[in-house]
Amino acid sequence: MHFSETKKIDQRTGRAINRRLILNLVRRSDGLSRSQLSGRTGLSAAAVGFVVNDLLADGYLMEAPPVGGKSGRRPVPLQLNASGHVAIGVRVSLKQVECVLTDLAVNVIDRRQAELAATTPGDVVGAAVESVTSLLAGQRDLPPIAGIGLSLPARIEPGSGFCVHSYRLGWKNVPIGRMLSERLGLPVVVENDTLAYGLAHQMFGLGQNSETFFALAVGEGIGCALVSDGRIRRGIRGEAGKVGHVRHKTPGPLCECGREGCLQAWHSAASLERRWAEGDPRPLPEALAGGDRDAQALVRDAGAAIGRHLAEWCIVADPEMVILGGEATAYGPAFTTAMKEALSAGHFETETPEILTDESSFYWTAGAAAVAVQQVFDFEAAPRGASPKGAARAPDRPTGLVFG
Ligand SMILES: [Zn+2]
Repeated sequence: MHFSETKKIDQRTGRAINRRLILNLVRRSDGLSRSQLSGRTGLSAAAVGFVVNDLLADGYLMEAPPVGGKSGRRPVPLQLNASGHVAIGVRVSLKQVECVLTDLAVNVIDRRQAELAATTPGDVVGAAVESVTSLLAGQRDLPPIAGIGLSLPARIEPGSGFCVHSYRLGWKNVPIGRMLSERLGLPVVVENDTLAYGLAHQMFGLGQNSETFFALAVGEGIGCALVSDGRIRRGIRGEAGKVGHVRHKTPGPLCECGREGCLQAWHSAASLERRWAEGDPRPLPEALAGGDRDAQALVRDAGAAIGRHLAEWCIVADPEMVILGGEATAYGPAFTTAMKEALSAGHFETETPEILTDESSFYWTAGAAAVAVQQVFDFEAAPRGASPKGAARAPDRPTGLVFG
């Protein structure tokens, strides 16, 4: 490679990083002026002015009326233009496909949901295309679409939109990002559902002021997103956080991964509810609400078992807090208190990370949209040559395809 080519790439990368830096500063602190941005970033006034003008032209930032005295040049506060673009989130679970249309602050504008009769890639893509088409058909004067985020319970090859496997959906080697992108004519970014959930909490949820935290999901499986030093950790193979597959106890129930005695085969919400249904016709949450002692013992054991493992993960990663989500949050204090006690008992420090319970399903669906929005804010990770100017405009005007 010639020196001039290297220099060009350095300049492009440098510009992309500066854009991300400034966009994220304004996102976090609305109302910063150009000179404040220069002070905070260490970039020259000219460099800040250049990047800001670019972001204004692309519709990502907007200017508020100037503030301060009447004389001289008054600082112009900059704001994120959240409604300048929209994003689409598609969340795939075992039974359904949920779609949301959001602005860049991930405020939900509209939503659709489709039940899945089967979970083949064709079924999932068909349901997603139908829902997204219906979602967009109901909109008028839609701003440019920044992209589609797709989240599913699967191992996703980082950066490629390729599903290596999904035990739950029964998939192996499915180019799901490309399949959906070709049908919709829009860029699609694919992410594991628990990582998308963690990303949503990092961007605008319980973890938005934390640099290092866990988002632990106990639902159909058990997974844990680790945000460390401000970044989601995916690992080399996109397998980071698949904690449900640690060997808990053998002999034990068979796991979806084919092994015996995995933690989630014992203690995911789906496993607990299956085991409960063998002896009682009432749904587990209903039995718990009625104060059933057996039901309480079942979820207490599960909470304690997960808490014991959680203590070890906390010792490894040292998170500030643990955000607990998924269907098991409906089990109430019998579950969460046992988990907290086991975490304290298993950790060598007297002060252990706080466990915050998130009972809403909002961050799961919003997480899929957050995956698309993340592409806007994280230019450093964007594919080489991609820029917001290349963002898709509408499904009837397809552009170049971007998969991650
Ligand atoms: Zn397993």
